[in-house]
Amino acid sequence: MNLKQQQYINGKWVDALSGNTREIINPFNQEVIAAVPEGDEADTKAAIAAARKAFDNGEWSETPATERGAIVRKIAELIERDKEELARLESLDTGKTVEESRGDMDDIAGVFRYYAELADKNGGELIDSPVPNSISRVVHEPVGVCGQITPWNYPLLQASWKLAPALATGNTLIMKPSEITPLTTIKVFELMEEAGVPAGVANLVLGAGSTVGAELSSNVDVDLISFTGGIVTGKKIMQAASANVKKLALELGGKNPNIIFADADFETAVDQALNGVFFHAGQICSAGTRLIVEESIHDEFVSALVERVKKFKLGSGFDEDTQMGPLISAEHRAKVEEYVETGIKEGATLAVGGSRPEDPELQNGFFYLPTIFTDCTTDMSIVQDEAFGPVITVEKFREEEEAVKLANDSVYGLAGGVWTNDIPKAERCVKKMRMGTVWINDFNLYFPHAPWGGFKQSGIGRELGKLGIEEYTETKHIFQNLKPEPVNWF
Ligand code: NAD
Repeated sequence: MNLKQQQYINGKWVDALSGNTREIINPFNQEVIAAVPEGDEADTKAAIAAARKAFDNGEWSETPATERGAIVRKIAELIERDKEELARLESLDTGKTVEESRGDMDDIAGVFRYYAELADKNGGELIDSPVPNSISRVVHEPVGVCGQITPWNYPLLQASWKLAPALATGNTLIMKPSEITPLTTIKVFELMEEAGVPAGVANLVLGAGSTVGAELSSNVDVDLISFTGGIVTGKKIMQAASANVKKLALELGGKNPNIIFADADFETAVDQALNGVFFHAGQICSAGTRLIVEESIHDEFVSALVERVKKFKLGSGFDEDTQMGPLISAEHRAKVEEYVETGIKEGATLAVGGSRPEDPELQNGFFYLPTIFTDCTTDMSIVQDEAFGPVITVEKFREEEEAVKLANDSVYGLAGGVWTNDIPKAERCVKKMRMGTVWINDFNLYFPHAPWGGFKQSGIGRELGKLGIEEYTETKHIFQNLKPEPVNWF
């Protein structure tokens, strides 16, 4: 591997100031795949100082938007050039299948391309002024220095949702990837350097949330924090960010309902219900882990799911026939195991799974069997809490209104789905569903043009789409009086 495996601060590849390093582990076999610098508050302060200077000197924010767009487009091209290397690196680091990682890389290049196109289309607008002989206009300016903190499940995809709009709009930034999965983010910083992003504009600090992340969130020289991760961390960041009333963009978790009506296309709904959860071993913020199934088809639907789940092929993400890889870490698998134990204690019925696989080939990896609980009710913590693993809870309903009520009974509001061939019914449901994304007869589809984010405690703000640009801009109203006269009030 040709990776620099260093931090990138002020245009230089550097080790941690402390000299500390952290081993990066392959979740499939626990082999050490890299040792990367373990930065801390000191490295973060150096990166913030570089980003502050690069923003305040105006070199990047005053670069014509078309030129910034061209650099962002070049990053997309370089990602496409190095797609296979990036995909394999992502799979090595996360355990997900290479096929899925290849899809991620296409999506990531698409995100950079999308924001490259938008870079010079945010010139503002003239608005009607109530005063004769005046000009009133609204312009959009970069927010300034952005701290960007990403999770481990879709390391580079989540990074791209933040890097591309921030660069396109003229901000400077410090990115902190998850300490567990930094490898593809390091590689993309190499590509950003190659694409011509000037020194100091994009900085990369590696290390823990409690040090690097906390410094970014509380440092008064950071103007915005864009965070994707868990709800508990999100709340801590909100508190820390109050130090200088930073702008906040939070993409937190989800406990996403998937409503299946009896009149849906049965086979497709079964297939997509599985796809909506077990992709990347359920470690997806938008996984449809709360199945809400109409009573008349409930038993048949669950049997069909169970039959399919029993045939899943678990294995190395590098094997072509693998459908599901391992969980990300020993700690994370322990959390999923605790969650399943809780479900059993709460009285849910384990329909399938509920343990580690016995296959001797999988014993060195952090594998967990795909698991389905039935007889679930909304008062159970397994129906309320995010497992972030390969676990489905199934609830039953009789009436349309009951289905929507169950779907909305959550502190989260990230995404949800409705399966039915009765389109007016689907429209009635989605109108009442309190989530940032709702799919009708689909699940988990997203693309760069459509905004992504959560209602309720799933977050604040939106990434992707045109709204993704708005997160990274401040709006300024400029009023010019062309014929100033005394007011004669005082
Ligand atoms: P996490 O909250 O543990 O960590 C996310 C990031 O925050 C990591 O980089 C971590 O180092 C950092 N961090 C930890 N403590 C911090 C602190 N005190 N201050 C600042 N930063 C800190 O989440 P995770 O386990 O990496 O990821 C899983 C979670 O992410 C799930 O809850 C999932 O739903 C959520 N997620 C949400 C979306 C979305 O789009 N809404 C997308 C992906 C993941």
